[in-house]
Amino acid sequence: MNGPSDSPTYVFEPLPLPAVPVAGSGKLFPVHRIYCVGRNYAEHALEMGGDPTREPPFFFQKNPDCLVVNDGNFPYPTRTKDVHHEIELVIAIGAGGDDIPVDAALEHVYGYAVGIDMTRRDLQGEAKKQGRPWETGKAFEASAPCSDIMPASIIGHPTSGPVWLKVNGTLRQKGNLNQMIWKVPETVSYLSGLFTLQPGDLIFTGTPAGVAAVSRGDELHGGVEGIGELRTRVI
Ligand code: MN
Repeated sequence: MNGPSDSPTYVFEPLPLPAVPVAGSGKLFPVHRIYCVGRNYAEHALEMGGDPTREPPFFFQKNPDCLVVNDGNFPYPTRTKDVHHEIELVIAIGAGGDDIPVDAALEHVYGYAVGIDMTRRDLQGEAKKQGRPWETGKAFEASAPCSDIMPASIIGHPTSGPVWLKVNGTLRQKGNLNQMIWKVPETVSYLSGLFTLQPGDLIFTGTPAGVAAVSRGDELHGGVEGIGELRTRVI
C-alpha cells in the first residue's frame, strides 16, 4: 500500500522528462512547455503575407517531446512535401510567474539557446486557410531542434547580434536580434499575461526572413552570435 511518503505508482513507466543540456555544466534544463512567437521580424512577417506594423504578438505551442538536442538528426516528417526551417533565439525561463512586468521580465530568464522551428508549411497553410489550429504544421515529431542553453549568468541578455542559418554551407537566413519586433522582456511579459509561466518553459522568439524548404540529406547549421550554434541533418 502507498502511504503519503511513498512515490506514486504509475500504470506504466512514465516517459523520460524532456530536457536540454546547459552548456559546460554537465547538467540538464528540464522542459515544461514550449511556446513560440509568430512573425516577430518585419521582413519575415512581410514574406508570410502579414503586416509587421499592425499585428500584436501571437503565440502557438510545440510539445516538450518535439525537442531534438545534442545536434541530433531531424527525420523528415510524414504527410508533407514542404518542410521549412526557421532559425530562432530561444528564451529559457528559470522562474515562473503571471502578469510579469516588462521591467522585471529578465529576472525570470535563466538563459538562451538557438532553436529551429521546423514547420510543415503546406499543412500550416491549409490550417490558416481553413481557420484551424496549427498543431499539424508546427508540433510534429522532432520539430524543435535546440542547442545547449547558455546561462544568462554567463552571457547576460543579448539584444543584438546576427541570427543565421546555412543549409549545406549556403547562407539561407540572416537577421539580427535587434530586428525583433517584440523584444525579450516584452515577449516574456505579454506571454505571462496569457499563461502562467513556469521554470522550464522555452520560448521560441520568431524567425528572420529567408525561410525555405529542406530535403532529406540537407545539413542545417545555424546560430545566434554570443549564444551558440546548432546543427541537424535531415534524414
Ligand atoms: Mn517560428
